[in-house]
Formats: sequence, structure tokens, C-alpha cells
Amino acid sequence: MKPKHSYELKFVSLALGKHEFTHKVDSSLFEAQGVSDFDNVDCTVIVHLEKQERLLNLDFEIDGHVKTLCDRCGEDLQIELSTESNLVVRFAEESDFTDDEVIFLNENESSLDLGQFMYEYIMVGLPTRRVHDEGKCDPEVLRYLEEAPEEEIKEEDNELDPRWEALKKFKN
Ligand SMILES: [Zn+2]
Repeated sequence: MKPKHSYELKFVSLALGKHEFTHKVDSSLFEAQGVSDFDNVDCTVIVHLEKQERLLNLDFEIDGHVKTLCDRCGEDLQIELSTESNLVVRFAEESDFTDDEVIFLNENESSLDLGQFMYEYIMVGLPTRRVHDEGKCDPEVLRYLEEAPEEEIKEEDNELDPRWEALKKFKN
């Protein structure tokens, strides 16, 4: 599956100097990467490009939001995103040198797909623990997960209902 928008940078036809491009990123870029736990991805990526003789310097400015599910309560969670990344493209024959921020392209290349990079920068910009702010989780779900089993155990004088046992496992 292909993303809805093209993120191809046709740098060969650009004059030396500074350029700026604005891209929209939506869920289709994530789906193209086989990632389905985010929907309603809505980000704007401004690419500041400086083209030099044998080098491209790209600054990505990413703002927007993605929607996923809360790790704590499982309800919809919108994450605001504001992040920046830098990428340097060098034109050279093959090189053993590797770096997250530098890539090498053959001098015969004329364009570069920026979609993969944008996807990675957005993923890196997201928090690893994705939960609602304190007190903002669905209270029904929290009660179900945290309080119900213990109360029920007390009331039933330690005669455990197998359903609560299953819940306890889930909680741990
Ligand atoms: Zn939550």
C-alpha cells in the first residue's frame, strides 16, 4: 500500500541554495509502513533544504497530532507532537561510514523519497509510554481494573470467583 501523498524530493532540478517544502502526513504513510496502531495521524512537516555542490542538508520541522490507544485505560488518546530532525545527504561512491543523520547517495541519483524518514522521525518523537494525563483516564475502566477484584475478594471471604482470578492475572 502506498501513502496518499508523494514525499519524493527531486533534488537534481533544484538550484543550489535554500528551499522550503511543506508536506502533509496522514495515516496512509503509517499504513504503508505496516503500522496500524495509530489512526488520525495529522502532521505538517516543513522541510528546510539547503543544496550544496555535493551535499543536501535537510531540517525537518514536524508539528501535529496522532491518535492511538491509552496504555493504561485503552481508550482513545491524542498525542500532540512537535519535533525536529536533521538529515545530511552526501553524494559519493559507496562508503562504510554509517550514521543516523547522514546518508550517502550515488551521484547518478536524482531524487529521494522522504516518506520513510518522516515516518521514523514521527515515531521517535512520540513518547514510549502513551497514557492520558493523571486523572484523565476512563474512570469506569480504571475501577474495573484496579478496585473491583479486591473488594469482591473481601466480601466473598476469600472464596475466589474464577472470573476475578482471571482479572487479577490481567492486572499484573
Ligand atoms: Zn487512559
